[in-house]
Amino acid sequence: MSDQQFPVSVEFFPPKTPEGVTKLHTVRQQLYALKPEFCSVTYGAGGSTQEGTFATVRDILAEGVDAASHISCIGATKATMRANLATLKSMGVKRLVTLRGDLPSGYGLGGEFQYASDLVAFIRAETGDDFHIEVAAYPETHPQAKSPAADLQAFAAKVGAGADSAITQYFYNADAYFRFVEEADALGVRAPIVPGIMPIASSTQLMRFSDACGAEIPRWIRLRLQSYGDDTASIRAFGLDVVSSLCEQLRAGGAPALHFYTMNQSAATLAICERLGL
Ligand code: FAD
Repeated sequence: MSDQQFPVSVEFFPPKTPEGVTKLHTVRQQLYALKPEFCSVTYGAGGSTQEGTFATVRDILAEGVDAASHISCIGATKATMRANLATLKSMGVKRLVTLRGDLPSGYGLGGEFQYASDLVAFIRAETGDDFHIEVAAYPETHPQAKSPAADLQAFAAKVGAGADSAITQYFYNADAYFRFVEEADALGVRAPIVPGIMPIASSTQLMRFSDACGAEIPRWIRLRLQSYGDDTASIRAFGLDVVSSLCEQLRAGGAPALHFYTMNQSAATLAICERLGL
């Protein structure tokens, strides 16, 4: 496959202000230069609303680009999920990133779904093959999992329930990804597992996110980032080196595509893709 054809996808979160909507519009136009296979939009993450997700998905589809809506089931009923799926279908959405999601601490789980696998099975039962279903994968193990083996089994069950492909939580250790893919394959998982890539543009933001989602920042990366303090140019130059080299390793090792967590910014993702010749 030539470099031009190596598939990439990009992820956004729904902006909360009119200025954010305008800015994301500009960011999208810049990222469309990469010819992304699809753009995905998060759902409920960080207190964002479902309306924000659907509005951003509509904007992307109106720009003639394939959009994937994330959808999470924690606290949801089957009736509301059915209604949301009907809305997404009527909008022309063909791809879903199907998640359990997280509730802010202090909330009980509630709802009629316990795990993402329940939602995958529900979507397949209700809508057949209308949607391409993506699920989340955790090469460094989901923070609430009983063990790495149990998490891998849960992942295989999620794919067994009808998922077409997976996107991973971000990581900076390629070996964790390759081992995860190998072990999933041994469990019979044939769905492509696409690495999620988090560009490094800000040190504090990365530390905050990684603590919350259980992604490991290797000591050598953390110490270097800390040593740069407020020197944004050095953080970005170092981040570009580290993440481009990770992407090279993943591509050389057979990763089927790359999915970028853009954080609604274009510069870092564009710089990495330029370095990779994409
Ligand atoms: P699940 O696959 O249900 O797993 C959750 C936990 O339950 C894991 O520890 C798993 O090991 C365990 N488990 C699963 N099945 C079983 C079982 N049968 N028995 C026992 N244990 C089981 N969050 C948002 O709120 N909005 C988003 O848009 C969003 N997008 C994301 C996109 C990607 C690519 C990724 C990787 C994560 C995203 N998240 C998002 C975060 C995600 O919602 C959280 O990580 C959440 O805690 C788990 O969701 P899941 O779908 O992976 O859950």
